[in-house]
Amino acid sequence: KVKYYDGILTDITDLKQANEEAQKRREEIAHLGRVATMGELSASLAHELNQPLTAILSNAQAGLRFIDGDSADLCEIRDILEDIVADDRRAGKVIQRLRSLFRKGEFEKVSLDINEIVQEVVKQIHTEAMTRNISIETTLDRSLAPVSGDRIHLQQVIINFILNASEAMMDMDDGPRKIIISTDKADKNMVKVGICDNGTGFDEDNIDHIIEPFYTTKPKGMGMGLSINRTIINAHLGRMWAASNPDRGATFYFTLPIHDEE
Ligand code: ADP
Repeated sequence: KVKYYDGILTDITDLKQANEEAQKRREEIAHLGRVATMGELSASLAHELNQPLTAILSNAQAGLRFIDGDSADLCEIRDILEDIVADDRRAGKVIQRLRSLFRKGEFEKVSLDINEIVQEVVKQIHTEAMTRNISIETTLDRSLAPVSGDRIHLQQVIINFILNASEAMMDMDDGPRKIIISTDKADKNMVKVGICDNGTGFDEDNIDHIIEPFYTTKPKGMGMGLSINRTIINAHLGRMWAASNPDRGATFYFTLPIHDEE
């Protein structure tokens, strides 16, 4: 009897040990997952903060030049300071939203006019585009139903596509550098946004690769733009893809669901 009892005891100990081992493995895997997410989150933050920081710097420098100049116009300086405040606020929101998206997969879902978001982004990025000699055109379907999503995240997605398009056109000396942003209806209650450039284009066989985090072909690239976009678009239950243009350059597309009223 005692022997039998012993036997059970050992079995249980073994089982307990095995369970503890398994639990430890699970914790390790969960931890690795968190480290990977943290790595992606911090890389994403570094990537997303670059643009507002650059905008703040160039505005502050413009302000200094105004003050040093002969005709310091207070209205002009006020405009510049307002831009700086807006960019700084946006940077703050970007941090907050990205954190909650990566931590809990959470984001705000409200009814949004995608055309309005496109126009806001074009306005935000106007000065940067001008200094790079890039024109941004829009062809917007005015009859689109509102989409469902988070304004800051969706602005960010479009900014990332525009920045990539701009960078793909930087080495181009011939012909105008032009980005066309379009909005259209897509099937199954979806709306489609396209960002078309006439830059270097990409190898279509390589498409899965270029979306991977940390994949970049740029000397100073972080390889986070497309992967952030995929994360945000997937969280919105949309889809993202890209195609080479028949003549030159690339077009990146994404879809978003129409906002459900109930
Ligand atoms: P990064 O811009 O830091 O390189 P991304 O994830 O945004 O990171 O892009 C990854 C790569 O995808 C780029 O390095 C580039 O090779 C390619 N790519 C992205 N957008 C375009 C585009 N519009 N035209 C050509 N290649 C592109």
